[in-house]
Amino acid sequence: MNKITQLFGIKYPIIQGGMIWCSGWELASAVSNAGGLGLIGAGSMYPDILRDHIVKCKKATNNPFGVNLPLLYADIDHHIQIIIEEGVKIVFTSAGNPRKFTPLLKKHGVKVVHVTSNLLFAKKSEEAGVDAVVSEGFEAGGHNGREEITTMCLVPNVVNNISIPLIAAGGIGSGRAMLAALSLGADGVQIGSRFIASKECSAHINFKNKVLTAKEGDTMLSLKDLTAVRLLKNSFYNQVVEAENRGDSIEDLKILLGRGRAKKGMFLGEVEEGELEVGQVSASINEILSVSQIIDEIMIEFNAEKQRISEIKL
Ligand code: NDP
Ligand code: NDP
Repeated sequence: MNKITQLFGIKYPIIQGGMIWCSGWELASAVSNAGGLGLIGAGSMYPDILRDHIVKCKKATNNPFGVNLPLLYADIDHHIQIIIEEGVKIVFTSAGNPRKFTPLLKKHGVKVVHVTSNLLFAKKSEEAGVDAVVSEGFEAGGHNGREEITTMCLVPNVVNNISIPLIAAGGIGSGRAMLAALSLGADGVQIGSRFIASKECSAHINFKNKVLTAKEGDTMLSLKDLTAVRLLKNSFYNQVVEAENRGDSIEDLKILLGRGRAKKGMFLGEVEEGELEVGQVSASINEILSVSQIIDEIMIEFNAEKQRISEIKL
């Protein structure tokens, strides 16, 4: 037991990151059934789809699960209303100011966690009354901070300056990395990329296969002036780099990005023209497994490494 397992009523302090187009009810319920905390990624869901996924998740697991809600979502009030109506008890918010919805959610008995990429926003989240923060480092896939603070530097700095529980994210996909995060002072870990290469993830198989073949250096933080996002290199990524090197304006970059790039790449499987959001840890992911196998592997490695380190005499 620790602060995070107690806060959510779960077995292992492993949170599955809410990932647009990748984390529907099937992934979320599988993670919760395996002893972690599954999150439905609401950012890519129209309101009726979100409700559908919440209802299916409730049927698929008796364990706690939550919803990840990017606060810049187009129809956010509708999502909040559905979360309250459906009695969702855990919400992870990101990409916005946690002051806006935390009091309302907490009034309805929801535990609220906010995802941040620096100390400043972790402190603001604590002031806003959240129950815990996720500190997500530079290694992470998808939307990311511009300051390039790595998980190794971010986590101890935040731990030293806040008093609520902290969940580390970014670059964590194994038991060793989980142990490292807890050694840095985190109370839990949020894992995204490793769960893309799972049977239950809703991503297109073409995207899952790209994650398996990704090597060191194949992901980059890009579109920093528009919306910093870590992407797997492909034809779309190359077009972005060319446009940035030419000095294209923000408006031109917006036109190049267009609408629905993330859906195209990750859900429809157009892996050259779409956006592929995944973290640096993809270089160590080589196999599509079931969620329960992934969590078992992580916990076996975590416990073995913990034992190994406890035997070191210095
Ligand atoms: P399923 O594929 O299991 O389908 C659930 C129901 O929706 C079935 O009755 C199915 O009909 C119907 N359906 C699925 N896709 C379509 C479609 N393109 N057009 C019309 N009907 C469709 O879906 P899930 O339970 O996994 O997910 C429910 C919905 O959420 C789906 O529409 C899916 O595309 C979407 N989704 C969205 C995600 C996101 O991030 N936005 C992530 C995962 C899923 P039938 O059995 O006849 O095919
Ligand atoms: P775009 O503006 O390019 O496209 C919007 C996409 O979201 C479309 O594919 C659309 O589906 C879908 N969508 C779901 N609900 C709505 C809605 N109410 N209104 C309009 N579109 C909707 O955005 P992105 O694909 O880049 O990002 C989508 C969302 O996900 C944003 O809220 C963004 O902040 C968030 N996001 C979250 C991430 C995370 O990791 N949590 C990572 C990246 C983005 P359709 O094509 O079927 O119309």
